[in-house]
Amino acid sequence: MMLSKLSIAKIWLALLGLAFLVSCSDSPEKISFSGKTMGTTYSVTVYSKDPRHNKEEIQKKVDIVLKRVNAQMSTYDPESELSQFNQFKSTQPMVISRDLERVVNRGLEIAEETEGALDITVGPLVNLWGFGPQARPEKEPSEEELNAVREKTGYQKLRVENHQLIKDNPELYVDLSTIAKGYGVDRVAHLLDQLRIKQYLVEIGGEVIAKGGKPDEALWRLAIEKPVSTERAVQRVVQFKDGALATSGDYRNYYEEDGKRYSHIIDPVTGAPVQHNLVSTSVYAEDTMSADAYATALFVMGTEKAKSFAKKHNMAVMLIYKTDDGFEEYMSEAFKPLLAEQ
Ligand code: ADP
Ligand code: MG
Repeated sequence: MMLSKLSIAKIWLALLGLAFLVSCSDSPEKISFSGKTMGTTYSVTVYSKDPRHNKEEIQKKVDIVLKRVNAQMSTYDPESELSQFNQFKSTQPMVISRDLERVVNRGLEIAEETEGALDITVGPLVNLWGFGPQARPEKEPSEEELNAVREKTGYQKLRVENHQLIKDNPELYVDLSTIAKGYGVDRVAHLLDQLRIKQYLVEIGGEVIAKGGKPDEALWRLAIEKPVSTERAVQRVVQFKDGALATSGDYRNYYEEDGKRYSHIIDPVTGAPVQHNLVSTSVYAEDTMSADAYATALFVMGTEKAKSFAKKHNMAVMLIYKTDDGFEEYMSEAFKPLLAEQ
């Protein structure tokens, strides 16, 4: 018997329907890749059912985004936009990109909010203590050296006006190390949103953003490290569907001289590396740039101030601090629901 045109069409529709069903019941493909950026590593994991999402294509785009952030904000690249501003020894305004403007503005906002604990102009002090692009000092800087360098610092000497960046002291030097990684993560997340990827995890040097959870309603799980430099061990596991998590600490990035420990985080009040019993701060927030900046600011504050800041602003924060007999944890009320069974 000959099939009528109509029934052929019906068969086609049925087949198409079947194909659609098959493709829908397919579990999403997991795509993971990693690379290098900002003097550290990055990694990306996405889940997608869309066959147009292929690893090489996505990675190529991610690399372009990260190169761009580097070209704007790296202090290790003398050609970067930020380096050009730092080399521009003038109080005249300089036109900057919208990205740089956004990051500087957020840095200044959080500086105000934290009463200067976060200060994106501490660069000369970071270099003086041997943590910047320059080499480590032979010995502790003298009082005079310290004071001379402090003259050139202070976030109040930096302004953004009409998409222009202005410094009141021509020697001012802007260091975005503490928020640029977080911003890079947010830019990659934005790219993945544009590519219509609904479930992903992006990480640069330990600063992370997650979106959409994992397939089958599972949450993203992340480990907060134990604050020891000798091994990589897990202190706590947290889980969430959406959000950013950043950790600041001096257990990996420090040096010791004459039995004294020098952290790479500077207390802008003293002009010297922080000295207190706080060893690690983790902040969960909506965006990674903020989480990154607050983690550093809380670290500068020290345990007691950090606790009250977290309480006052209802922030999701976990602190690890040293006591006479080991380490202790503090978790803010907003942080507790993130804890996973270990
Ligand atoms: P990490 O995440 O690698 O531990 P952070 O994000 O905490 O590092 O940033 C550390 C860097 O920030 C330092 O290397 C220094 O360049 C800069 N920095 C140090 N102290 C401060 C501060 N008080 N405010 C802003 N930036 C700082
Ligand atoms: Mg950080």
